[in-house]
Amino acid sequence: MSLDASAAATKPVRNGASRVPVLLPYPFQGAFDYAQPEALALEPGDVVMVPLNRRAEVGVVWDAPVGLPGDLATPPPPSVADAKLKPVAALLDVPRMPESLRRFVDWVAGYTLSPPGLVLAMALRTNASQPVPPTTGWVRSGSNSATARVTPARARVLQALTDGAPRNTAELGRAAEVGTGVVRAMAEAGLLVEVAIAGPAAFGTPDPDHQDPVLSPDQNTTAQRLRGLVQGRRFQAALLDGVTGSGKTEVYLEAVAACLAEGRQALVLLPEIALSAQWMQRFVRRFGVEPAVWHSDLGSKRRRITWRAVAGGEAQVVVGARSALFLPFPDLGLVIVDEEHETAFKQEDGVTYHARDMAVVRARLSSAPVLLVSATPSLETLANVESGRYQHLTLAVRHGGATMPGVAAIDLRDHPPERGRFLSPVLIEAARAAMQPPDGRPAEQVMLFLNRRGYAPLTLCRTCGHRIQCPNCTAWLVEHRARRQLACHHCGHTEAVPTHCPACNAENSLTPIGPGVERITEEARLTFPDARLLVMASDTLPGPNAAAEAVRKIADREVDLIIGTQIVAKGWHFPGLTLVGVVDADLGLAGGDLRAAERTVQLLHQVGGRAGRAEAPGRVLLQTYNPTHPVMQALIANDFASFMQKEAAQRRPGWWPPYGRLAALIVSADTADAADAAAQTLGRSAPSGEGVQVLGPAPAPLAILRGRHRRRLLLRTRREIAVQPILRRWLDGLQFPRSVQVDVDIDPVSFL
Ligand code: ADP
Ligand code: ZN
Repeated sequence: MSLDASAAATKPVRNGASRVPVLLPYPFQGAFDYAQPEALALEPGDVVMVPLNRRAEVGVVWDAPVGLPGDLATPPPPSVADAKLKPVAALLDVPRMPESLRRFVDWVAGYTLSPPGLVLAMALRTNASQPVPPTTGWVRSGSNSATARVTPARARVLQALTDGAPRNTAELGRAAEVGTGVVRAMAEAGLLVEVAIAGPAAFGTPDPDHQDPVLSPDQNTTAQRLRGLVQGRRFQAALLDGVTGSGKTEVYLEAVAACLAEGRQALVLLPEIALSAQWMQRFVRRFGVEPAVWHSDLGSKRRRITWRAVAGGEAQVVVGARSALFLPFPDLGLVIVDEEHETAFKQEDGVTYHARDMAVVRARLSSAPVLLVSATPSLETLANVESGRYQHLTLAVRHGGATMPGVAAIDLRDHPPERGRFLSPVLIEAARAAMQPPDGRPAEQVMLFLNRRGYAPLTLCRTCGHRIQCPNCTAWLVEHRARRQLACHHCGHTEAVPTHCPACNAENSLTPIGPGVERITEEARLTFPDARLLVMASDTLPGPNAAAEAVRKIADREVDLIIGTQIVAKGWHFPGLTLVGVVDADLGLAGGDLRAAERTVQLLHQVGGRAGRAEAPGRVLLQTYNPTHPVMQALIANDFASFMQKEAAQRRPGWWPPYGRLAALIVSADTADAADAAAQTLGRSAPSGEGVQVLGPAPAPLAILRGRHRRRLLLRTRREIAVQPILRRWLDGLQFPRSVQVDVDIDPVSFL
C-alpha cells in the first residue's frame, strides 16, 4: 500500500476548512492529514471514514501525543500541501475513542517500535464502525393476505404466533417444525412481518453488595488497603501476593466492588480466559451477574455489542485476555492482572507486547490503580516492589486453616520406574494410598502433571537411528497416538505415523522416545485399572465448555485421577485433591532460557498449589534426576522468596532483566544465506558504548521455522538506557532485500 494518502486527492481545501490528522489501522508511520469539511466539527477520537487510494477506510481523528517520552515518540509521516488534501468523507456513529486509549496506542507503538496504525488496528479490530444490528422477530401480518396459500406448514407457523409475541426465524422453525425457507416465503407472501425486538440488556449491572464475603482479619486488612487505592482515583501499582489458596481472588473482588461503588469501570486480565469457568462462578456469586468477557475468539456480533457496551459504560466490569487492554473504557478505575507471572501475557505475533507491563501503562494513562496478583510473582514485579515503585500487599496463610502442601523429591536414580515406564514405584504407592486409603479414610483425588502434550516427543528408528523431524522447522515431530498423527508443535504440520522408517525403510522399527500426557495416561490405566481418569490438556479440552465440564466433574468427585499439562496449574480450586505428582520436574530446566529456573519454580509451585486446599493436607512429589538443584530445593523448602533473591543476585551483575533492558532482533529469510547476510549486516552496524552491548548474531534455537531461516541478535543495555532510540538509529540506516524480515521483540520472553 502506498504511503501517500494524497495520491488520489481530488478536492482542494476550501477556505475556512482546516486539517485533521487521521490515524488509519495500517502499518503507516503516523496519522495522515485530511481536510475537515465545514459541516463536520471533528474532534480527536472521532471515528471517521476517509478516502485512501480510492477506497474508503475507517480511521480515528488523532492528536499530538502529549506526555510521551521523547525516545518513544514515533516520527511523523511527511506532510502534504493544503491544496492536495482530501476531505474526510463521514463521521461515523461510534463512540469517540477516549483520550486515555489514544495515548495508550501511541505509547505501545513507541515502546514496541510498531507503527501506531498497527496498534490502532488492535483497538479497532472490532469492526467498531458497523452498528450492532437490532434483533428482530416475526409476527403475523395484520392484513389477511387472501392470495397467499396457507399450506399445513404455514398454518403451523401462524399457529405458533397466535400469542402475538415476536419470534425469530430459528425459534419459529423449532416451534412449527419448518425450515427457514418456509418462514422467508411467508414473509414474501405478506403473511409475516418483521419487527424489532427489544432484547434484554446485554450486560447486567454488577451489584457490589450482592453477597458480601466474610473475610478473615488478614484478608480484611488487605481488602481495606485495596479499597483505599481504588478510592484514591490515581495511578498506583501494587503487587498482591499470597500463597495459593489464601483468598487473593476473594480479596481483589473487593477492590472491584470499590471500583463499582466509585462508578468507574474495572478490567481484570486473566492469562487464559478459556479456563476461567470457576472464576466466572465466583464473580456471579459475589456480584449477582456475569461480567463482560473479551477475548479474540468472541463472535463478531458479541464483539461489537461488547465493544459498544464498554465504550458506553454499560459494561462495568470486563474480564478478558490481553487484547482487552485496547477496549475504549471511558472511565477506567481499576486494572487487575491475575497470575501476573504467566508468560501467556506476552503477545508474540504482530505487535509484540507484554500485557502485564502494558496494563501498568494503561492504568497510569487512566489515572487508575493497577493490581498485579500472583502467588509466585515475576522477578520484574518483585524488583519494582523492592525499588518502591510498587506497593506490596501480602496474604500469608491459606484460607480456613488449610495448610500448605508438603513437597518432596523422588530421586529417579534411586527409585527408577520400571523399564519403558515413567512413574516411580514411590509415586505409584503414594497415589494408590490416596485414592484407596487402607485405613478406611475417605478417598482423595490425585493429579499427575506433565507439561507436554501428545504421546511421545520424539520418534526414533531402532534400525538406523533416524529421528522424525518437521519438514518446515528445526523440531522433532510429536506423536499424538489418539489421532494417529505426528505433529509439529511449532508450525502445526501433521502427518500420519509411518509404518516404515522414512530413512532406511525398516518396518516396525519406529519407537516412541519419552513421555507426553497421552503416554502417562496409558501407563496410569494399566497401573490403576479401577481409577476414574480425566485428562486435561489443551487438545483434549477444546474450548471453555469442555474445560468447565471437566472442572465440574473433578469438583463433584466423579474423577479419581487427573492427568494434565500446564492447564491444570491454573488457579483451580479442587477441594478433594490431596496429591500432586510431577512426572518430570526437570523438564523446563533444559535450554538456555534466561528465566528457565524462575519459570519452573513458578509453574511447579502453582501445580503443587492445587493440592490440599481444603481440610485434608496436601502433598507434592517431584520426580527428578536432580534433587539438589536450587529449583527443587526451593520447592521442597517452600521458600520462594530466597530463591528469587538468588535469581536476582545472578541477574544483577550482567544487567540481565529486570536489572537491565533487552531487545531481540529476529532475522528471517527464505534461505540460510540470505538470513546470514542480513544478520551480518546488522552485526556490523551494531551499536556499542558504555552500558550497551549486542550479542550475536547467532542461529536461533529454532533455526528454521515454517520454512524460514532464522538468526537472532540481542541488544542488552543498562536499565537507565532506553533501547528504543538505539534500535531506531540502528535499523533506520539499513536496507534489506524484500524476502528478509527483521522483527523487533522488546523485553523478549521467548528465546527460541
Ligand atoms: P487464591 O486466589 O489466593 O489462590 P482463592 O481466592 O481462590 O485463593 O481462595 C481459595 C478458596 O478459599 C476459594 O474456594 C475461596 O472461595 C475460599 N475463600 C477464600 N477466602 C474466603 C473467605 N473469606 N470466605 C469464604 N471463602 C473463602
Ligand atoms: Zn514445524
